[in-house]
Amino acid sequence: MNTSKLKSTLKRVAAANRPELADLEYLLGLTDDRELALVYQYADEVRAQYCGSGIWLRGVVEFSSYCRNNCLYCGLNAGNKDLPRYRLNAEEILAAAEQIAGGAIKTIVLQSGEDPELDPLWLRDLIIKIKSRFDLAVTLSVGERSRQDYYLWRAVGADRYLLKIETSDRKLYESLHPDMSFTQRLRCLGELKDLGYQVGSGNIVGLKGQSLKQIARDILFFQENDFDMIGIGPFIPHQATALAAESKADLQLTLKTLALTRIVTKNTYLPATTALGSLGADYRREGLKAGANVLMPNFTPQPYRKYYEIYPGKRCINENAGDCGPCMEIMAGQINRNIDYSVGHTLKRGGEHGQKGTNY
Ligand code: SF4
Repeated sequence: MNTSKLKSTLKRVAAANRPELADLEYLLGLTDDRELALVYQYADEVRAQYCGSGIWLRGVVEFSSYCRNNCLYCGLNAGNKDLPRYRLNAEEILAAAEQIAGGAIKTIVLQSGEDPELDPLWLRDLIIKIKSRFDLAVTLSVGERSRQDYYLWRAVGADRYLLKIETSDRKLYESLHPDMSFTQRLRCLGELKDLGYQVGSGNIVGLKGQSLKQIARDILFFQENDFDMIGIGPFIPHQATALAAESKADLQLTLKTLALTRIVTKNTYLPATTALGSLGADYRREGLKAGANVLMPNFTPQPYRKYYEIYPGKRCINENAGDCGPCMEIMAGQINRNIDYSVGHTLKRGGEHGQKGTNY
């Protein structure tokens, strides 16, 4: 093990305005356990320095499993006719919001596939109701929409939006998303930022045909775009997709990507994703020790939870809403961290939030 090379590379990457691709590739290629431990420890120190010891909770409500797209890695793809589909009504979502607020969690994430029947006015009214009844930040994750829709929701107080780039490599992106365009994805991310949303993005690690260089470029893409949140998810093959026969992502490659994203982007909210907790065992603890500072408990009501099957073996599909809070307190305690029950708005740009974009 060449400790001095590793340490000097980590320092160089952390200090650079734009790290060298070759340095990131070298770090992503490490396999020695002691070297990996050093990378994770370094990321953990950067997390402590820029974000503190807190772990923020975001309560997720998966309100529609309908999707018009056919992403090659996703079990919700429109071609999967075996999956029972559901849509929650406003009352069911408001009941979930009440449970989230009752658990002292300050963020609700409203997530769905790209449901062609999602009425933007219905969602606008729902946001208004949530905002008037509960002390909750609202994060939306409903895919690619028109600027007008994004505007409509932001204007009534939606705070954040999650839209993963999945991969920053145009060719790989378009090979995985047959009905979609990389240019359109970038357009959406730009508009969300312009409208003053706190924007979350992220990637999938371990995709078929994905190189270390492409992952290194993803990390640089995250830095360039100064996202407020970034989700790093391991690829997990789903039986009803074109990638069913592929291998699942390597755990260490996922953790390295997470750690380097922390080291490069510093004060970003990085979840220990549910997918990381579903990679054969629950590796969210490892994620939290390698730079992550967010957990996303599931508040989708039963019996729907099992039908939101982006990948198989998803954690916590049999639990009831509200079971996750105590579990996450225990997880935080086990690694000498604490759950932070503040709202957890962006740590970027001096923590400013609520400012409207220039074209709002
Ligand atoms: S990843 Fe999202 S857009 Fe793609 S098929 Fe799955 S739910 Fe639909």
